[in-house]
Amino acid sequence: MKYEKIRKQVLDAILEAVDLGLINGTSGNIAIRDDEDEVVAITPSGIAYKTMKAEDIAIVDMNGKWIDGPFKPSSEAPMHTAVLRARKDINATVHTHGMFATIAAMSGELVPTTPPQSEFYPINIVPFTMPGSSDLANIVVDTLGESGRVVLMKNHGMFCCGKNIKAAMAATIYTEEMAQTQYYAKVAGVFAPMPKEGIQKMQELIAADQAV
Ligand SMILES: [Zn+2]
Repeated sequence: MKYEKIRKQVLDAILEAVDLGLINGTSGNIAIRDDEDEVVAITPSGIAYKTMKAEDIAIVDMNGKWIDGPFKPSSEAPMHTAVLRARKDINATVHTHGMFATIAAMSGELVPTTPPQSEFYPINIVPFTMPGSSDLANIVVDTLGESGRVVLMKNHGMFCCGKNIKAAMAATIYTEEMAQTQYYAKVAGVFAPMPKEGIQKMQELIAADQAV
């Protein structure tokens, strides 16, 4: 099987996302860039993830064009490949329709409430844009900018990225956790986000640790 390593990484990550309840049905998709060839492994469109095999994962070029695999790539391939083209520091991207992240996108804000969540701040929100369109790909790239890790998409979900799949999945898991905590805290009437200085100090600590 060609591109076995990235195909297996995509399969493992999507199964983890399903197990964690971040993905229901076939919504959500994951892409990983090959570290030698300029190609991307991405979840196929409309295939049940639980019974999927590594060889079922689609391979696309850096423009999202389908080049290998039995099933057509996710319709969100333009968004994933646009971010991978724009950001050389990013090798893995995760898009989910997580319930709490979707609610946070409607509410207009998502801020850290615990220290580890600080790594992914600030989280910007883009207005509803048609899924699969080049308009959505462009607005996500622009909103992530040079160092962003997470974008919320109103009435749709979230898009997260990282230097590898572990980092991209961490962004996804912590963003959904952040959104869930914010939601329940607001419902309980006790919402109190991390202080700005605390977020900044945590970001410095995290950056220093990653530099080691
Ligand atoms: Zn979607």
